[in-house]
Amino acid sequence: MSERVIPLVDQRVASLPAHVPAKPIPTTGLLGDALGRPLRDLRISVTDRCNFRCSYCMPKDVFDKDYPYLPHSALLTFEEITRLARLFAAHGVRKLRLTGGEPLLRKNIEILIEQLAGLRTVDGLPLDLTLTTNGSLLTRKARALKAAGLHRVTVSLDGLDDAVFRRMNDVDFPVADVLEGIEAAREAGLGPIKVNMVVKRGTNEHEIVRMARHFKGSGIVLRFIEYMDVGATNGWRMDEVMPSAEVVAMIHRELPLVQLDPAAPGETAERWGYADGTGEIGVISSVTQAFCRDCNRARLSTEGKLYLCLFASQGHDLRTLLRSGATDQDIASAIGAIWQGREDRYSELRASLPPDDGQGVRRVEMSYIGG
Ligand code: SF4
Repeated sequence: MSERVIPLVDQRVASLPAHVPAKPIPTTGLLGDALGRPLRDLRISVTDRCNFRCSYCMPKDVFDKDYPYLPHSALLTFEEITRLARLFAAHGVRKLRLTGGEPLLRKNIEILIEQLAGLRTVDGLPLDLTLTTNGSLLTRKARALKAAGLHRVTVSLDGLDDAVFRRMNDVDFPVADVLEGIEAAREAGLGPIKVNMVVKRGTNEHEIVRMARHFKGSGIVLRFIEYMDVGATNGWRMDEVMPSAEVVAMIHRELPLVQLDPAAPGETAERWGYADGTGEIGVISSVTQAFCRDCNRARLSTEGKLYLCLFASQGHDLRTLLRSGATDQDIASAIGAIWQGREDRYSELRASLPPDDGQGVRRVEMSYIGG
């Protein structure tokens, strides 16, 4: 078992100033990055805290009681988040995903959702307003989230076996409560619901077919996510990755599958339908089948840094600009310039990069910018 390298450098401090370009960049909704990819999807982290300690995201030995979580004053206010989201929408964003940490831990998140629900795309349509959660608070919150204007939820669930699930969330949280939360979301009308399972070889691959059977015919789309080398603290190893091709083959042997076309450009999941027509699954294969070529996602950290890739090591500080009294045009131009310069495609390059010796550039933590 190789030693896990725990970095002492707090990656959150490393950021680039967001410059306002001399020549304003108009908000046309057609902004493209350096590889011609449009800006369509904004993931907004509303907290760096979580009540779970999933080992592949927030390992307990790093994110312990002494971990320097962000003070409330450092977080963007709901008004600041909404203002930024409005400017991103003017540049072409059509979908907002609220993430964390665990977003439902952010107090009064319903107020933010109400504000975001009032925004419009460049062609006057409501934005697709979604949220990714570990489901622990859904039973209590589902109705209020729906009433505030949330469209749908994605719930993380890494297994049905209670012992396996408790081990993976590492806070002894029972699987039954998450399943109850999913039901509450369904009853509240927060659908179509998606469930994400991170597959870690040697930990939960024996739960794959059981999960598929459980959600087959339920209308809930189950997605299997390859274990990723996100951040710098989860001790990632390639031999703990179960390639999606193996996951699909495992299910197909018991529940025949047929491949489906992508539902939307830039979709991260490869879709497979049950041959008997009773639903579909998805696989998200950042390690073995990179999908950077049409990645249209930007990420906003909870303190206002713009990250252009899940595996980025630095963000662009929009909060300073926001709090400096800059105009909407200035901030929109700064966002435009940052996106136009984007060349990120980490997953495509991963195999060609030198092995991580713990001394190189540190990737930002997924719990800080959302999955
Ligand atoms: S690795 Fe980065 S660029 Fe590639 S799909 Fe993921 S977030 Fe997008």
